[in-house]
Amino acid sequence: MDKVKMLYEGKGKKLYSTHKESILVAEFKDDLTAFNAEKKGSESGKGELNCQITSFLFELLEKNDIKTHFIKRIDSKNILCKEVKIIPIEVVVRNVATGSLTKRLGILDGKVLPFSLVEFYYKDDALGDPLINDEHCKILDITQDVQELDFLRHQARKINSVLKQFFDSKNLKLIDFKLEFGKDADGNIILADEISPDSCRFWDKDTNEKLDKDRFRQDLGNVKLAYEEVLNRILS
Ligand code: UDP
Repeated sequence: MDKVKMLYEGKGKKLYSTHKESILVAEFKDDLTAFNAEKKGSESGKGELNCQITSFLFELLEKNDIKTHFIKRIDSKNILCKEVKIIPIEVVVRNVATGSLTKRLGILDGKVLPFSLVEFYYKDDALGDPLINDEHCKILDITQDVQELDFLRHQARKINSVLKQFFDSKNLKLIDFKLEFGKDADGNIILADEISPDSCRFWDKDTNEKLDKDRFRQDLGNVKLAYEEVLNRILS
């Protein structure tokens, strides 16, 4: 389906309208950003890798009864998806402590958490995406319906159990990841955005080698090689 008009350009993707109402094309970009876009870069071919990885994982989730915005992959860096109104919450699931959690709570990096932790962050770059709870969601009028927040947590845990098991079979530890949900034209809450090494942390099960955007964040090098490794393992 042809792109008609660019509606939105985010850090990792551009969204285009199509001739069909409520159907969009998402184009994956090569750009990389970190630390609330204070650090910027680009990695040729990264968009194509994330497009393939996201497409595979959204199909896997659909097969496991998780409703998503994903319709199909069109080509190497474009997918067709349902238009949704994004809920301004970044839903983060953590299996192992690292990144901001270790800094915030003083937990040792790499500590396996006693249960999968689900957190909400308010999607607002100007505020630096602060951690929020259900009452903040009400005050911010993200929703007045706590059941919607329970549904997000429930979906996040279900997604985690599917993905964790899948990546374990590919010799990768799913450390943590970020999800975004949106409401479709009928008001259903469905998974949107992407699931890729930009939004997840993957460590090799044997060596703990980082195979995700931390390679860019921490200047570890071989960013594209790491993303390729994740795709190759997914497809293996
Ligand atoms: N994450 C993301 N986008 C964000 C913030 C976090 O995709 O704006 C992902 C990140 O890649 C990691 C998880 O969410 O997989 C948890 O990130 P954390 O809160 O530890 O933030 P960071 O340490 O990256 O600042």
